[in-house]
Parts: sequence; structure tokens; C-alpha cells
Amino acid sequence: MTTLDRRTVLASGALALAGAAIDSRPAAAAPAAQPIFTVETITIPIAGDSGVFPVRRIYCIGRNYAAHAIERGSDPTREPPFFFQKPTDAIQNVAIGQTAEHPYPSLTQNYHHEVELVAALKSGGTNIAADKALEHVYGYALGLDMTRRDLQNGMSAQKKPWEIGKSFDHAAVIGPIHPVGKTGHFEKGAISLAVNGTVRQNSDLSKMIWSVAEQIAKLSEAFELKAGDIIYSGTPENVGPVVKGDVLLAKLDGLPDLSIKIV
Ligand code: MN
Repeated sequence: MTTLDRRTVLASGALALAGAAIDSRPAAAAPAAQPIFTVETITIPIAGDSGVFPVRRIYCIGRNYAAHAIERGSDPTREPPFFFQKPTDAIQNVAIGQTAEHPYPSLTQNYHHEVELVAALKSGGTNIAADKALEHVYGYALGLDMTRRDLQNGMSAQKKPWEIGKSFDHAAVIGPIHPVGKTGHFEKGAISLAVNGTVRQNSDLSKMIWSVAEQIAKLSEAFELKAGDIIYSGTPENVGPVVKGDVLLAKLDGLPDLSIKIV
């Protein structure tokens, strides 16, 4: 500990407390660690409620519809689901009845839509049993897992992490969260996405390989889930490119529509 300089100790509340203990100073003598600036808290509006849902982590499940798994070049048998994350501040909130402007991101020439059901958790844990998993769901939203497909594929071909294809500003488009008490749980129902009025993705939640309950159970084996975590539950087949000027309209049985315009 003696090699820690003052700046390092001050930069970390935990280290500062550890140093205090080793120095045998009373804990009360250590100044409370204060953030040196404010970082925005990311929230999602809750439909019909003045409260907002604070976002902790954004998990996404890959290849959860057989026909999409096939179009992405994999075998749709029930292999364990795989997950990735987007940064929390990738959230782009879209209000009901509005068409939000969504900026075409940098570096890509093949920008894809993926329409998905999103589950939002009010609690969590580890090794959650599938038959208890839905007790942790606060509500559901309709979302778009926007993807720089060329960058994802390019990195994948090099056996490198494809984070750059999935994890970028505005990449997690989402409508308001609807409390489960009002909507019930989503295990079936039509889900679709149209671009400029032409339906491109059109499937049913019942075709998900892993249900939301199973996704929560599997995720909780790998990570401790907590309140504020949201899960994009995978997209059906016929993902495809959008360009500036396109208007996307996502639909899910039981939730209001979600719309963005690429600008
Ligand atoms: Mn996806």
C-alpha cells in the first residue's frame, strides 16, 4: 500500500477506505469520496406512470429464432443461448405515437434493424430457476437491437469480439416499459417490423427458441442479475439494411407501436 500515491488513493473510495484501515485511522476521519463530476443516469419511461425505470445493464440474446439462426449461418438446434451486452447509455427512448429521429451511425455501410421483445427486471439473483424467473420481471417493452452488420461480420470473420457492430451510441432503441400487471407475460404474439410501409420481419414470439423465463435462468448462471437489467430477447428472421430517410415501424401484439426515422 505504501507505493500508492495520493492521487490513486483519492481516485477510489474503496482504496481510500482500505488505506484508512491499514493506517489504523478511524474510518470517520476519512473524507467521504465525492464524484468529481456527474454521469447521467439512464432511464426508460414507464407507460402510464410518472416514474421511470433506471437501467443497470442491457443484455441481448443472440439467434433466438430458428429462421434467424439459419440466416446468420448457425444451427438452430437448442444450443445454450448466447448473450452480449450493449452499454447502458446506448438507450434511445422513443415515445408512444412519435417517430424519433435515429442517427445513422459512423463506420457502417450495412446498418440493420432487429425487432425484439425486451424484458425489464425489478429484481434478480444468481442461478434463478426458470419456473421462478418471471417473478423478477417488472415489465416489457418493444425494442430495436440496431446493428452495424458489416462491422459485426468483419470482426466475426477475424475471430475478434464484434462489440463494435452492436455496442454504439443509440444502438438500443426502446419504447416505454409496460408493467407486467397491465400486459401479462409475453410468450406468444405477432412481432413485426416494416420499413417505409413494407413488412420485412414478421414472426411470432412463440417461435423463440428460449423463452424469457429460460433466458433469465441461463443469464443468471453467468451473471448476477439485478433490478434495472433489461434483456433484448432476440430477433426473428429477415433482418436487413436501412438507409437515411427510412421510416421503421415495429409492432408487437399487446404493446403500442414503435417508430424511428433514420437521419
Ligand atoms: Mn438482436
